[in-house]
Amino acid sequence: TIGKSGDETGCNVFVVGGFVRDLLLYRKNEDIDIVVEGDGIHFAKNFAASKDARIHAYSKFGTAVITLEDDFKVDVATARTEYYTSPAALPEVEKSSLKSDLYRRDFTINTLAIQLNEKHYGTLIDHFSGQKDIKDKTLRIIHNLSFVEDPTRIFRAVRFESRFGFSIGKLTVRLIENAIRMGVFKRLSGARAMGEIISILEENDPVPSIKRLGEFRLLATLHPSMALTEKTTALLMETRKALDGYELLAEDLRCQRWLVYFMVLISPCNTAEAKKVCRLLRLAGWQEELCVKEREQADLCIKRLTRELPLDNSILYNRLHVFKTEVLVYMMAAAERKQVKKAIAHYLSKLRFVTPLIQGRDLKEMGLPPSPRYRKILMQVQDARLNGMLHSKEDEMAFVA
Ligand code: ATP
Repeated sequence: TIGKSGDETGCNVFVVGGFVRDLLLYRKNEDIDIVVEGDGIHFAKNFAASKDARIHAYSKFGTAVITLEDDFKVDVATARTEYYTSPAALPEVEKSSLKSDLYRRDFTINTLAIQLNEKHYGTLIDHFSGQKDIKDKTLRIIHNLSFVEDPTRIFRAVRFESRFGFSIGKLTVRLIENAIRMGVFKRLSGARAMGEIISILEENDPVPSIKRLGEFRLLATLHPSMALTEKTTALLMETRKALDGYELLAEDLRCQRWLVYFMVLISPCNTAEAKKVCRLLRLAGWQEELCVKEREQADLCIKRLTRELPLDNSILYNRLHVFKTEVLVYMMAAAERKQVKKAIAHYLSKLRFVTPLIQGRDLKEMGLPPSPRYRKILMQVQDARLNGMLHSKEDEMAFVA
């Protein structure tokens, strides 16, 4: 039906980018990006009407987002006809505006398009040898100034390399190195760099990408104190294990994976440096607090727990309940002693949900006059429960009595 709307509005319509790439890689992708040669908004309105779908159109940019049933979204963009100012090395300019739109993209594997108009339905358009690069498992940029134009593409290259098990092409590697040497990151805002770092850290396994960033000395380029060390790399791998373990233990209680990895990335920094990095990368105040202050407290707590082995449940609870989930997962990774790791996992999966069965109301019924002592009593009940001494409400009442 997309093709039909294209025909009705006199536009050539194509599905492009990640969707086509993932189709050829047999990977799931639910983001549909449509590029339209012609009046994209006119097309989008026609298509939305035919589907009775919601539409947000941005006339100024010739783009629209159509929301179908089940919140399925289709992004529509009008092919842009202008070109980047690029060096003379550019081959002769083709008239097709689809091609010029695709030329603006990052890697050849993202430049594939499939036409959807009825007459040409299913025609694969491959202006930049994307199919060959998919076959060869290679990431290549489309023109030599690509990374200078947009340094975030360096992060994207590293991310896709690992996600798809591809390799960055030789020339592309050299262009990355050159761009970094030229100082392109001085022009990239901290917020955009952080957005890319988060995207990497949210991948299934970000460790190979981080190692790659280390090889390019990219983190050190952002701030010298972020230079990747072997110790950090090993800790990142422990973090991956801890996160996977945590998600098995408590799949309903999500934790922001990227935050845990980021705590590890800045763990070699001293307090002042860590704060500087967080500000440079425009982290929110609460995120900085978590990554710097709470993380430092966590490091101290790990040392303390190690000294206190073997650990009573009530001690464990009292030491750990002040920390947020992300910090606890960090601690599980950073603790060197297996018993400490296990203790933290035990807290995360069980102890943190333990609360007394009796409440203030019950204490009142037992004839105790309401007072701040209630809190203390309930905490004692909690400690006893944590240590396995109480198993029912009756046990708790008897304990209080
Ligand atoms: P992901 O799966 O992470 O969403 P994706 O490539 O499928 O990756 P987007 O990151 O949303 O999806 O990008 C959509 C398309 O936009 C890509 O296929 C790519 O061609 C293009 N694109 C995105 N970022 C850039 C960039 N910095 N420079 C050039 N093209 C880009």
